[in-house]
Amino acid sequence: MSQSSMRGMRLGTQSLESERNVAFEARTVHSYLCPQGHISELKFSATAEVPETWECKSCARTAVLLIDGVPVEPIGKDEKTPRSHWEMLLERRTVDELQILLDEQLVNLRARRESARLAAEAAKASA
Ligand SMILES: [Zn+2]
Repeated sequence: MSQSSMRGMRLGTQSLESERNVAFEARTVHSYLCPQGHISELKFSATAEVPETWECKSCARTAVLLIDGVPVEPIGKDEKTPRSHWEMLLERRTVDELQILLDEQLVNLRARRESARLAAEAAKASA
């Protein structure tokens, strides 16, 4: 390396502080089990009060702390069954209203298909 080049180091990734004389805090690993059967392992400070539930790392459902492999509370206890799209739709419109909308859309669809078919026929006839 020539004398004129500037020496530097990447920002953010390295620390100039050494780890000498630093006492690391003791940590313990705890496992959480979600209703889908995923196990998330998390490190906590050994002195921390460990929460009984945690969001699953794989599916984001509520996972329950395992102590000696046994969940501390029933898994999936506070899970609500999500409403389906159909149920949400029925909160806004009645089946009769939906039938009218469907009929309108079918008329539009058939009209578009018919005009596309006629355009294709006209193009074929003029070719
Ligand atoms: Zn999960």
